[in-house]
Amino acid sequence: MHRSMFRAAPRHLQSATRLPVATGSSRNASVRGYATAFNWEDPLVASDLYTEEELAIQDTARQYCQERLLPRVLDAYRNENYDRKILEEMGELGLLGSSIEGYGCAGASTVASGLITKEVERVDSGYRSGMSVQSSLAMTGIYEFGTQEQKDRFLPDLAKGKLSGCFGLTEPNHGSDPGSMETVAREHPIKKGYYSLSGAKTWITNSPISDLMLVWAKLESTGKIRGFLVERSRCPPGTLETPPLKNKSALRASITGMIQMDDCPVPKENMFPDVEGLKGPFTCLNSARLGIAFGSMGALEDCLSRARTYALERKQFKGNPLAKYQLIQKKLADAATDAAYGTLAATQVARLKDQGKHSPEMISMVKRQNCDRALHNSRVLQEIFGGNAASDEYHIGRHVANLFVVQTYEGQSDIHSLILGRAITGVQAFV
Ligand SMILES: Cc1cc2nc3c(=O)[nH]c(=O)nc-3n(C[C@H](O)[C@H](O)[C@H](O)COP(=O)(O)OP(=O)(O)OC[C@H]3O[C@@H](n4cnc5c(N)ncnc54)[C@H](O)[C@@H]3O)c2cc1C
Repeated sequence: MHRSMFRAAPRHLQSATRLPVATGSSRNASVRGYATAFNWEDPLVASDLYTEEELAIQDTARQYCQERLLPRVLDAYRNENYDRKILEEMGELGLLGSSIEGYGCAGASTVASGLITKEVERVDSGYRSGMSVQSSLAMTGIYEFGTQEQKDRFLPDLAKGKLSGCFGLTEPNHGSDPGSMETVAREHPIKKGYYSLSGAKTWITNSPISDLMLVWAKLESTGKIRGFLVERSRCPPGTLETPPLKNKSALRASITGMIQMDDCPVPKENMFPDVEGLKGPFTCLNSARLGIAFGSMGALEDCLSRARTYALERKQFKGNPLAKYQLIQKKLADAATDAAYGTLAATQVARLKDQGKHSPEMISMVKRQNCDRALHNSRVLQEIFGGNAASDEYHIGRHVANLFVVQTYEGQSDIHSLILGRAITGVQAFV
């Protein structure tokens, strides 16, 4: 276990996860004879389901995110400026590839990884995207499917954030249907022991700053999809370009780009040895999607907390705080309920994953549901801010814009509905 993950968090950061808030309602609880006070920040006491180690990891992640990421996010979002140092900072704390055993990774549970993700996305979904791509997509791919030599060469530096990784699956003409990809790997015509990769990937998180790209391409000789580790430093000029995609309307605190390969030489030892077809990329995506199920609940909890504070402070009609009106309270109640249910569901699936008892359909269910609820509730909570919602200082508009894309990428709701529908009926829907 990575030692820095146990660093104690300051008391104010622990309160949301550990300590019931001693409010009027808690006093009422004891008067009414209930042993447990209701804590609006953890209504169904999810923290009871976590080990001491998992809670310590969550505290470390929350302290880092609130103290180091939150102060940077407005500037990063306004200027589409991702600070590369963030990966190194996360690496120092053991937050990258945290559920991987060995190679300098923390070897924590899937639940702990989910809690880290939740804390990062509480600040911003773009920061979570940058971390997920490094951890769940690039590192998990290498850990699950790489040779021993690939793992030894790349995982320790990826874990420290010294190397930045990305995951290239989506193409300009093939998003939801990656099986139709056009990127191809063929024997290099000149360089012995090399493949030559040609094709374009788009919407790739971290690609402009990546040292190592996990690229999925069809091997020309078999027509099967294979994974290739493309090292930027070993690509001759003119064979690899990774231009950024600027002017995004969401996830602006993350960096997104293309991977353009033109007869790019990749050593044969950089291909994953065994995995073929979509099993490789889908295994990685499943890991990322479970993270998103936790992360989206972090973003929703932040929206709830900010809307609650605003509703208590803002007075309209006879000096009453907005929080005194029933329609406002319903919005807060709906959001708190969905955040609590979603956190419990994601925790259950993560526990099952640690026990080897999960299925991809479970991940589809929690990714789909939690993204849907986070987006719906954040939009409704945004109404509480009235015209002030237009100011980015309130953070709510940024979460809403981000959550729309988070619901859409890495398996849209429609695609997860198809996966679940097939599992429920046994019939493949017409696509
Ligand atoms: C900010 C950002 C970061 C990203 N990062 C990465 C990354 O790091 N790596 C990577 O490989 N990709 C990445 N992506 C790409 C992302 O995974 C794709 O956008 C996603 O797969 C959807 O593909 P598409 O955008 O081409 O949509 P399309 O496939 O064109 O789909 C458009 C719409 O049609 C719907 N649809 C499609 N097929 C069906 C069907 N059969 N039935 C019903 N509805 C359907 C979809 O739900 C969607 O709403 C990223 C995207 C964004 C926006």
